[in-house]
Amino acid sequence: MDVLKNYVNGEWTSSKSTEAVDVHNPANQEVISKVPFGEATAQDMNNAIELAHQAYLEWKEVPTMQRIQPLFKLKTLLENHKEEIAKLITEECGKTYGESLGELQRAIENVEVACGTHVMMQSEFSENIASGIDEFMIRQPLGVSGCITPFNFPGMIPFWFLPYAIATGNAFVIKPSEKVPLTMQYVFDLIDKEMDLPKGLLSLVHGGKDAVDAMLQHPKVKTISFVGSTNVARYIYSEGTKYGKRVQAQGGAKNPVVIMPDADIEMTTKIIIDSVYGCAGQRCLAASVIIPIGDQGRFKESLVEAAKVHTVGYGMDESIKMGPVITPESKTRIEQLIGKGVDEGAKLLLDGRNHKIDGLEKGNFIAPTILSDVPIEGKIIGTEIFGPVMSLVDFNELDTAIDFINKGRYGNMACIFTQDGLSARKFRSETMAGNIGINIGVAAPVAMFPFSGWKESFFGDLHGQGRHAIEFFTQTKVVIERWPKNWSRQF
Ligand code: NAD
Repeated sequence: MDVLKNYVNGEWTSSKSTEAVDVHNPANQEVISKVPFGEATAQDMNNAIELAHQAYLEWKEVPTMQRIQPLFKLKTLLENHKEEIAKLITEECGKTYGESLGELQRAIENVEVACGTHVMMQSEFSENIASGIDEFMIRQPLGVSGCITPFNFPGMIPFWFLPYAIATGNAFVIKPSEKVPLTMQYVFDLIDKEMDLPKGLLSLVHGGKDAVDAMLQHPKVKTISFVGSTNVARYIYSEGTKYGKRVQAQGGAKNPVVIMPDADIEMTTKIIIDSVYGCAGQRCLAASVIIPIGDQGRFKESLVEAAKVHTVGYGMDESIKMGPVITPESKTRIEQLIGKGVDEGAKLLLDGRNHKIDGLEKGNFIAPTILSDVPIEGKIIGTEIFGPVMSLVDFNELDTAIDFINKGRYGNMACIFTQDGLSARKFRSETMAGNIGINIGVAAPVAMFPFSGWKESFFGDLHGQGRHAIEFFTQTKVVIERWPKNWSRQF
């Protein structure tokens, strides 16, 4: 099986590395590709960045109205090929085909929003700040933008950044997760064949830490956009800023959901089950800690009954609702965390460990799992499990639930289910998380809004998507201009 190539300076080129790692289909462990890895990928990255910088020097001079034109073509390409791309996402990432189509829709929406970059880049002008003096601000691109993405949304997350970076006049280099390199490989193949972009404007370099470190250290990289686990996000932020770069680094999560006693039981159950078990719990906005306030067992029973019938299997099988987790190591880690929860005193209401699917015995499957009475002083309650595991916690008051949520290390999302406006208003105002859902299970901001993680779910200032992305990928320049009247010529 051939090792994947990098896309550099508008051409597919072999990596300098002789090392490669296997890419597996998580549903059956088949090797579906090989991706370059190891020290020599740093050379690939450095080479791509130098050539991307050359592209930037010309691209920044292109008027913004012209820079957005390729995005219309990109949108059409993604739309016309969404079935093939979605199949690839399911093959390498494991999620259901419907979920893969859903994430692509979010990618397309970001391209659409970035088509308005010429408007979003417009700036401010003050006439006569003093007599005969005007002051205005312009936005200019920075240079080469680096991007490092995780395994769980291979088709969507690159587009939180890519369209905005190039529309604002930067060149863009992406290193996708080595676990799911095929989706971006396919998208770049489409770009190569169907679009007429300047060479080097968009580059794809495979690898792991070596390629990332080269990106972090290269002086021509001016911005870094990262999405992944909190420990790596923290490392990327501290290293990137140490080398003088602007960094936005999105990290992990442990998302709480409060259910008030007045919540609609049917709707709440359905939405929470979809949120906890969607993408096999491998969503940074997956509901994970469920807090039914003053519950007498009503909501718990309803959630257990719904989780029991949440079917697991191969993502291309239309009858199933949940695919496998990404790797055998992930499956082992998640199953060990479930065991640890029980050791800490939690009750196992539903045990999805050791789940086997006929014909897919090697797949990384875990069935829906529910831990109840999870001790709030234990370790599991604050640990990102990133798998199909619901942790139930009991509180009698909304105040104590909010206090508990606010003490958590993460702040990616918090949701409340209620029919009472006052409870909802209190929750949205006092809860320390950047994305709030009210009767919503996955509070994922659409492309016009920033993806607003807080606390250890985000390191940086400006988030991905929308206007935040425009600001992140540009630097402001303020011009103060004087034209004295006595210089004016008579015409
Ligand atoms: P990860 O941190 O293991 O990897 C992310 C990227 O970083 C990959 O491209 C990987 O090659 C690279 N990387 C890994 N270790 C590195 C190191 N030591 N030095 C430099 N680069 C390194 O994350 P993952 O397992 O691919 O993704 C799952 C995590 O991502 C979860 O924690 C999830 O919550 C998080 N996530 C967060 C968001 C968000 O918006 N906050 C969105 C999606 C996923």
